[in-house]
Amino acid sequence: MKPFAIAIHGGAGTLVKGLMTSDLEASYKSTLTEAMDAGYAVLNMGGSALDAVTASVCLLEDSPLFNAGKGSVFTAKGTHEMDAAIMDGAALNAGAVSLITGIKNPIQLARDVMEQSPHVFLAGEGAMQFAQAQGYLLEEPSYFYDEVRYQQWQGIKDSDTFQLDHSAKKDGKFGTVGAVALDGFGNVAAATSTGGMTNKRWGRIGDSPLIGSGTYASNATCAVSCTGSGEFFIRGVVAYDVSCLMEYKGMSLVDAAAKVIHERILKIGGDGGLIAVDVEGNVAMPFNTEGMYRAFKKWNGETALGIYKD
Ligand code: ASP
Repeated sequence: MKPFAIAIHGGAGTLVKGLMTSDLEASYKSTLTEAMDAGYAVLNMGGSALDAVTASVCLLEDSPLFNAGKGSVFTAKGTHEMDAAIMDGAALNAGAVSLITGIKNPIQLARDVMEQSPHVFLAGEGAMQFAQAQGYLLEEPSYFYDEVRYQQWQGIKDSDTFQLDHSAKKDGKFGTVGAVALDGFGNVAAATSTGGMTNKRWGRIGDSPLIGSGTYASNATCAVSCTGSGEFFIRGVVAYDVSCLMEYKGMSLVDAAAKVIHERILKIGGDGGLIAVDVEGNVAMPFNTEGMYRAFKKWNGETALGIYKD
């Protein structure tokens, strides 16, 4: 049997165990399991890595628990601006969207950019026009309203501060989401989706939709999806860096991912983590924060789900 595997994340950050209720923890775990299983089912039925990561990320976007799709954080204007990217490691095809509003599943729109347009990255008004041309219906702002996110924003809205929803105030609501997969045909894919940072302004865009920074996939090496302080992940070109260490230095996936998260990104002050899968089905999920919502499942039955450091 050819190897296949799926790994997902729901954001890295300063997750403090004592501040998490057991009910909330159970909700996180069951949503992560559901998203992981959805991607795994696609692979197990002979589906593509691209379909698997799309399925997993859509489920995470539909949950209010994570900072993507429905659970997206508030911008400085009190709106929700979402970013997403998807990459197919087989042909190095990619699609990304940024600063979009009202779209239920940004990852699907990113995929449509890849498959239905001649472009890679569409942003703002233009991306919304493309969505309209593709027949997307828009959700009302109330679909994205969430009391906890609102209170997070109220706490900093009149300041110049912008924050990772999973750092400062430990209120139990975290995370950009992502998925990486290897399918039975040897193809890898990566997908990342986010609401960005609370109180962001000026059209701020993080690493998530940037191919090479927050999202990358190549059949020559691996697929990577990142989460953390986007400004640093952009400067560190993190996802591509993992791939480069493998391709040009011959490092293993686990060593390359650890080097980037525990050495290279730390050196410039970046906090966060990533998930990655290589073309042999190895999985790496390093993070340099207190925790990262994460899970993986492989063809050989190996599986794990975690929130905090082990
Ligand atoms: N990396 C994302 C961003 O900077 C945030 C996150 O991972 O939660 O937009």
